Amino acid sequence: MLNEKMIGLGSAPNDIRALFAYGLARKAEIGEDKVFDFSIGNPSVPAPAEVSATIKRLLDEEDPVALHSYTPSPGRFETRKAVADHLSRHFDIAAKPEQVYITSGASSSLAISFKAVACEGEEVIVPSPYFTEYKTWVEATGASIVEVPCLEPSFQLDVPAIEAAITPRTAAIVVNSPNNPVGAVYTKESLERLAAVLARKEQEFGTSIYLIADEPYRAITYGKEVPFIPTIYARTILCYSFSKTLSLPGERLGFIYVSDLMENPQETTYAIQGAGRSLGYICCSALWQRVLEECIELPTDVEAYRVNREILTKGLSELGYEYVEPNGAFYLWVKALEPDAVAFSNRAKDFELLFCPSDGFGGKGWFRLSYCIARETIENSLPAFAALKKAYDDQA
Ligand code: PLP
Repeated sequence: MLNEKMIGLGSAPNDIRALFAYGLARKAEIGEDKVFDFSIGNPSVPAPAEVSATIKRLLDEEDPVALHSYTPSPGRFETRKAVADHLSRHFDIAAKPEQVYITSGASSSLAISFKAVACEGEEVIVPSPYFTEYKTWVEATGASIVEVPCLEPSFQLDVPAIEAAITPRTAAIVVNSPNNPVGAVYTKESLERLAAVLARKEQEFGTSIYLIADEPYRAITYGKEVPFIPTIYARTILCYSFSKTLSLPGERLGFIYVSDLMENPQETTYAIQGAGRSLGYICCSALWQRVLEECIELPTDVEAYRVNREILTKGLSELGYEYVEPNGAFYLWVKALEPDAVAFSNRAKDFELLFCPSDGFGGKGWFRLSYCIARETIENSLPAFAALKKAYDDQA
């Protein structure tokens, strides 16, 4: 018998991808330059030239049998060491390669981590709004998510509300900073308060509460420091990806780092390896592991996103839209012009503006613009945003 839950997931693709597919069809119909597609987070900055140079060299110079062989499931030791050395170099931690698990991007880092820490009937706290797929991955473990809204209008963590949501069934909390969809970077002070609450609740209930730090946007910030969570809360599992920071979303490359500072990290690392195994995860692409060993220190090119952010925020504020000032990632969280963000986003399609309503992210009355797109699309979209605003002003 088919699994009803899986039929449900497969037959109702997530909102972002559905809108992205609509955008492709619409562009084919009326022309690329007539559609302003802010739906998906596909980086518009090309991957650094060193990445393709490294691939070419590896293909030319290495033994093809060795190059394309299976690697150990957690990754080649050299790749894990490159990641551990990278973390030790940049943050105040002595990371060991044994605590690193190389993955196919943050999606598998997260699905594996949730599977490792959450059991049937348990709960995972998710500050909202949040990256839609958390729910899918958490529910696949038999656990459920507990949404805790962030504080408006800053969209920082509401630590007292998180404290009130923690129960003896709480297995973990996910913290995504810089944040998708809001662009918030959580302050060190709020993370320290959160760490104190988690430690206190662990004591009170005699449980272990993991903090899963989802950080694909760590290197994409606009002047704000992104605190390194493993040194703030010991029971942290860091989920990372090179999809955004090196512009490699289709190559599927990331890692999990189980903080060396937690008590008995080996046991948690075994749980990560076991979860990977149970999900049929064999190893990340051997070629890409080799590339990572050589390219992990390459800087992220944030400049294009910084300029897009300036053009978009300036243009929208001149038109009278309200938004949350983004300190990181490449998303803008904007107030919808009517309470029903789904209806608003549908109406925007009449102006060829494609963006995701907040509902899919667990929020009400906002929409998300993904601004990692061509600059001229942003510039050319402003008259459409003006016409959309005018349509609402005229009916008021
Ligand atoms: N987490 C967040 C917050 C994201 O925005 C994304 C992708 O957009 C992911 C995880 C998954 O990224 P990846 O491409 O590395 O699987």
